[in-house]
Amino acid sequence: MKIKAGSNLTKVKQANDISILGMIYQNGPVSRGEVARQLGITLPTVTTTVKALLEKGVIQETEMKEQDFSLGRRAMAVDIAPKSRFVAGIEWSPFGPVCCISDLRGNQIAKKRHGQGMFCPEYRDMMELTGEYVEEMLRESGVPREKLAGAGFATPGMVDSERGVLVSSSLGKTDWSGKRVRADLEELLGMSAAIENHVKARAIGQDLFCRAQRPEVYLYYFVQAGISCCIMVNGEPFGKGKQGTGDISHSVVDLKGPVCYCGKKGCLQVFSGENHLLERGMAMAGEGKCPALSSLLASDSPLTMDLLLQAADQGDQEIEEMLLLGVRYMGISIVNIVNLVNAPLVVIDSAVTMSARMRDYLDQVIREHNYFKEELELTTDYIDANRYTGAMGACAVAVKELFIRRP
Ligand SMILES: [Zn+2]
Repeated sequence: MKIKAGSNLTKVKQANDISILGMIYQNGPVSRGEVARQLGITLPTVTTTVKALLEKGVIQETEMKEQDFSLGRRAMAVDIAPKSRFVAGIEWSPFGPVCCISDLRGNQIAKKRHGQGMFCPEYRDMMELTGEYVEEMLRESGVPREKLAGAGFATPGMVDSERGVLVSSSLGKTDWSGKRVRADLEELLGMSAAIENHVKARAIGQDLFCRAQRPEVYLYYFVQAGISCCIMVNGEPFGKGKQGTGDISHSVVDLKGPVCYCGKKGCLQVFSGENHLLERGMAMAGEGKCPALSSLLASDSPLTMDLLLQAADQGDQEIEEMLLLGVRYMGISIVNIVNLVNAPLVVIDSAVTMSARMRDYLDQVIREHNYFKEELELTTDYIDANRYTGAMGACAVAVKELFIRRP
């Protein structure tokens, strides 16, 4: 076999450049020597790459963090120049596109989403709106188009990020399945795009933008209409392409439970999914079973998870029991996965755990069911999410795929 030395060297250089930029992103401000030591790359190689990145303006010289310099001499370090590039983040929700623009460190610069009154619009309309929103954000924020490194896209369902295809949308009522979303976005926006499942994108967003020290393996557990769990391994979601979607909405938790729309009895979603909780809450209010919720609904509509939590706090017994049961099944499903992979940390992203009482109960269920409680110290971390968390996750996907991996 003939070995093409030239192309191999180029590949090695490219891999080095990606590692160096990634290392500076994760650990900056950091000295050139530290980058070389941690990556096992020679100092001259690091110096050459850093020089090229400085010339491009994507990193900057800065002083070391206080604890890192010694003998009174302030060593120079390098760090990402956060506003040297920007990214657009797009999440497709059942209520239309949710978009934002952020800098390289996840500081939100602009945001835009559809108000009310839409449900599962057609693919063509979603694309058109996405294009309009990105243009509006660029105009309003004053971010120059040439400074956009690209667009990240996130949506529920099976996303083949390598081929750029939304294999199967988990929003059943849409015509989005099977579409070549990445190619269509690139044509529409005139820039590079990267696509990902929305829970993986949220997990990447929390990991990349928060830069918290997290264990090698941990879980990112997300509840909205459906329930998903992303297994994070060394800062990456487990599974590529069609693997690792992590949708556990239809895991059966009670063989005698109510019938789910998928036809089975007792799916997790029937107990813990937000749509089910909201529908049942509305039905209970209609039957006159929960006076606190009825009065909250009279002054403030439509029904939200926040109102359900308030009604439970104000003494609506049936709402309280419904929420506690939902949280209980969330806890059991979390521990089932913890027992499988022995993850020491679970990051939880859900509306019901906005309530401290519900968080405490979830922690209690998790503690009680964790089989390896003697051997494994298991902690939970609750995300303070909002309507733009998914779109910000999409921004992080863009930073990772279109900035760090394309030096
Ligand atoms: Zn089901």
